[in-house]
Amino acid sequence: MKLQLSPSIYILEDKEGAYHIIHTAIRRIRTFKVDNLVKEVIDTLAEEKEESEIKRHLEERYTPGDVCSCIDALEKAGIVRRYEPEQIINSPFSRQISFLDELTESWEETCKLQERLQNSRIAVFGVGGIGTWIVNGLYQIGIGEIRISDPDIVQKTNLNRQLYYGSKDIGRKKVEVLKDKIPDAKIISFTTEVSPEADLEAIVDNVDFIVNCADYPSVAETTRIIDSVARKRKIPYSVAGGYNMHLGMVGPIIAPGETACFDCFLAYQKASDSLQGMKIVKNIEQTGSLGPIAGAVANMHVVDIFKYITGRGRYNKNRFAEINFLDLSIEWREFDKNPKCKVCHLD
Ligand SMILES: [Zn+2]
Repeated sequence: MKLQLSPSIYILEDKEGAYHIIHTAIRRIRTFKVDNLVKEVIDTLAEEKEESEIKRHLEERYTPGDVCSCIDALEKAGIVRRYEPEQIINSPFSRQISFLDELTESWEETCKLQERLQNSRIAVFGVGGIGTWIVNGLYQIGIGEIRISDPDIVQKTNLNRQLYYGSKDIGRKKVEVLKDKIPDAKIISFTTEVSPEADLEAIVDNVDFIVNCADYPSVAETTRIIDSVARKRKIPYSVAGGYNMHLGMVGPIIAPGETACFDCFLAYQKASDSLQGMKIVKNIEQTGSLGPIAGAVANMHVVDIFKYITGRGRYNKNRFAEINFLDLSIEWREFDKNPKCKVCHLD
């Protein structure tokens, strides 16, 4: 094992000799009164060292017990990391591992969380304005297997917002193009449309998470179908189809038995819709869309999935955000399990 100071921390010493440790990833500052042993460990670990070497060096002046407990405490506080260098050097995720390491108490835990991401299988329905960016994000965080399903072919009007598709791809199946463009990801493709008659079993078999970006005929209708499949198999999923003109919706993640269910979410939306019950005179035919907004919303969903899988940070449980990209304001909507909900009662 090697030891080194956590690469993302910043240490300042004040006039009284106290150390201020700034954890950049989580924006936390902690102040410590430090003794000579702690100072010496921090000085010595400006460069990485073999654990046995630093211990031998310090044990000339301090007891082995003191050295050991000092290093352990510094590791627990996220100041020192104890790691296997080859796990970092050979990994394309070395910077992500450093990010995760600030959210854990030990290197072992960090590696476990990274492995959890790499062992996860995720199904994505719909690879259009949101779905293409989601697939890209899942690839970037190292998801081991990504199953994608979309019956559509690439059209010229998709190119302003759907990642990876170019003019040469027009007329090709979207799922095939994505597979070609991200060769390093393990992508399994399907062309099944989300509909009440569709057999989605093969796509969701053994997956750890589902992302619904299928918006035809509407996100609410496709989510209803995804929900019945997910609930039966107790698979968590996110409703990720939500963006319309300048408004983006991030969340909620619905995890059967863990969060409020889709019916509770719909009941909340119905209750908070002031236009409910009015007669439609003219319906929406088409909405405008801006590529960077699609990308921003989709990437926020991926961060939410990252938080859900790693159990770090606060994922969108029983809440969702409505982001107004014209003034960058965020309105949070929170809902709870409806005490009368039969679905939650069954879960
Ligand atoms: Zn419910």
